[in-house]
Amino acid sequence: MANASQGEKISFTPSHKIQVPSFPIIPFIEGDGTGPDIWAASQRVFDAAVKRAYAGKRGIVWKEVLAGEKAGKIKNDWLPQETLDIIKDHSVAIKGPLSTPVGGGHRSINVALRRLLDLYTCIRPIRYFTGVPSPMKRPDKVSIVVFRENTEDVYSGIEWKSGSDDAKKVIDFLNSQMSCRIRNSSGIGVKPMSPEGSKRLVKMAIEYAIRHRKPSVTIVHKGNIMKFTEGAFREWGYQVAKEEFAAQTISEDEVFEKYQGKAPEGKVVIKDRIADSMFQQALLRPEEYSVLATPNLNGDYLSDALTAQVGGLGISPGANVGDRAAVFEATHGTAPKYAGQDKINPGSVILSGVMMFEYLGWQEAGDSIIQAMQKTIEQKTVTYDFARQMEGAKEVRCSEFASRIIDNLT
Ligand code: NAP
Repeated sequence: MANASQGEKISFTPSHKIQVPSFPIIPFIEGDGTGPDIWAASQRVFDAAVKRAYAGKRGIVWKEVLAGEKAGKIKNDWLPQETLDIIKDHSVAIKGPLSTPVGGGHRSINVALRRLLDLYTCIRPIRYFTGVPSPMKRPDKVSIVVFRENTEDVYSGIEWKSGSDDAKKVIDFLNSQMSCRIRNSSGIGVKPMSPEGSKRLVKMAIEYAIRHRKPSVTIVHKGNIMKFTEGAFREWGYQVAKEEFAAQTISEDEVFEKYQGKAPEGKVVIKDRIADSMFQQALLRPEEYSVLATPNLNGDYLSDALTAQVGGLGISPGANVGDRAAVFEATHGTAPKYAGQDKINPGSVILSGVMMFEYLGWQEAGDSIIQAMQKTIEQKTVTYDFARQMEGAKEVRCSEFASRIIDNLT
């Protein structure tokens, strides 16, 4: 591994193209509960994969930043401003899970980072690893990347409590000025969705599909009911495809009208599905979908449902990405009952690192981890979560699972 003095910061060109030095400094948060176990295991895998792939010509210079319980203990602040500043300054970071104390008043780091860095897309790649226990007959048919809008929709946090003066004011306005009929006792939430917010999300999904030669991008929405938010999301999605990617994309309607239902070679098909239908399709015909572009709420539900189809939390990576920054993280929580037991599956953080390598353009390192993880699962040397459902499996510790992956790196 590179020594710290060799590290340099990642930067971006004015047109948002990432510039990655050979020895980038990457801040990490190890996380609470089981975080230290899974982070230690994952970091070893990352360093080994980079070493194998680039023979010392590249390396990550890790920089720990504090958040959560550890920051509380050392800095008396669960989310020090310094942590946010360092991540902002370095553009790319990776984190373990952080606990959210019930009734606690501190800021959520995910929300803080999303706002600070304008991380407007949550990306969740969902794929099957042969041998992973799954409730499905053919989980191998699922290979879908979800691009979920991260800043708008009912998650924008604009809400007024039932019975509050503010809720009453809003209800009064809506009933008296806008011909609405809302019960006076209602709580109220607002669902903003803008053309700018929707188009940049769909654009990122289409760019990904083109770059990775995926056959289609499906815009998911509930536009039959919510016409001016979800319905508009669909319209804006098709618009951005037409305005910015006319040469590389084709709409599903056009494929049927002009090409008898078979898309011309090399074109990404842009289609759309109503959210409830999409949930059915994900179970019945998952092989027909490769990239989904969704508003915030639908994407939240869909990505967890798809993850369950391929075996669940232990191998569920994610990333929050903007135009000039990205933060990678496991999508599960701190699993506190296993803290300090070197027990749980580090797969989600490891695969979040694979996403990070792809983002950096270090594809070889990412690919070698995927291949090694697949081999390790096929050898049935797995952590408790998989072992308890796999016949003939050998249960290994979190750290041992990482060591097996390292042994299997090519
Ligand atoms: P959780 O930590 O995700 O754990 C729930 C259960 O999921 C665990 O008991 C375990 O199941 C299984 N699990 C989770 N991660 C696993 C892994 N890597 N390998 C194997 N099994 C795994 O959810 P929670 O208990 O509801 O939340 C705990 C804390 O995490 C809370 O403070 C919550 O706020 C926080 N959280 C943080 C994030 C984040 O930082 N992104 C996300 C979600 C939750 P079994 O019991 O069946 O073994």
